[in-house]
Amino acid sequence: MIEIRELSKTFSSASGTVEALRDINLQINDGEIFGIIGLSGAGKSTLVRCINLLERPTSGQVIIDGKEMTSLSRRELLEMRRSISMIFQGFNLLEQRSVLRNVCFPLEISGVKGPAAKSRAVELLKIVGLEDKANAYPAQLSGGQKQRVAIARALAMNPDIMLFDEPTSALDPEMVGEVLAVMKELARGGMTMVVVTHEIGFAREVANRIVFMDGGYIVEQGTPDEVLKHPKEARTIDFLNKVL
Ligand code: ADP
Repeated sequence: MIEIRELSKTFSSASGTVEALRDINLQINDGEIFGIIGLSGAGKSTLVRCINLLERPTSGQVIIDGKEMTSLSRRELLEMRRSISMIFQGFNLLEQRSVLRNVCFPLEISGVKGPAAKSRAVELLKIVGLEDKANAYPAQLSGGQKQRVAIARALAMNPDIMLFDEPTSALDPEMVGEVLAVMKELARGGMTMVVVTHEIGFAREVANRIVFMDGGYIVEQGTPDEVLKHPKEARTIDFLNKVL
């Protein structure tokens, strides 16, 4: 379970300060698909990055399976992060490695020997429907295929939690469906997923719960039906009118 308590994040720079997150309180249960929606700049990405401490909160707590993330030692944090995978908008594949070797990479780093890493990577490529691309290089793949390789690579560590930060927003529209299909499959398999997305249809269909964020606040949260069909807050209604 992920518990977020009174989380705030302020960015300070020469040009001023931005309160990216303000007093966020959330609980995300195991096996839950949790959607985060909102306009650009709402704080969605900062929130998801605070979960694995890619971004350090200014105040508040992130508690995962009873462990308070900000109080962990460097070593403990690295250990915790092994069970939390993150998928970004950009795919961050290693261009000089084949698809198979990209998926093998995290396994090799964690000490899995060559043949075992390879057979696990082949299994993972099957899950994302890309076993026939094992020997291709990233440059030979479409955006959708690259993101599916990135998902296979993220699965290699057997994560308990997967964080997705706008996984389809860098893709051409015709590639979005294939990535969402893989994510739906993971959801069916019981993975805990936190998904920042502008794919409202996906959020409606797959998420168990949705939060709508604006100006660093959680404005509204509930089931897809509650938030998307029967929103209560004016800001949510406004947003939905713009995007639907
Ligand atoms: P979203 O994901 O909803 O588009 P973000 O979480 O990326 O929103 O950003 C929330 C706010 O924090 C924005 O005003 C953004 O400009 C600001 N912000 C995000 N990251 C940084 C950073 N590293 N330095 C300064 N400001 C940042």
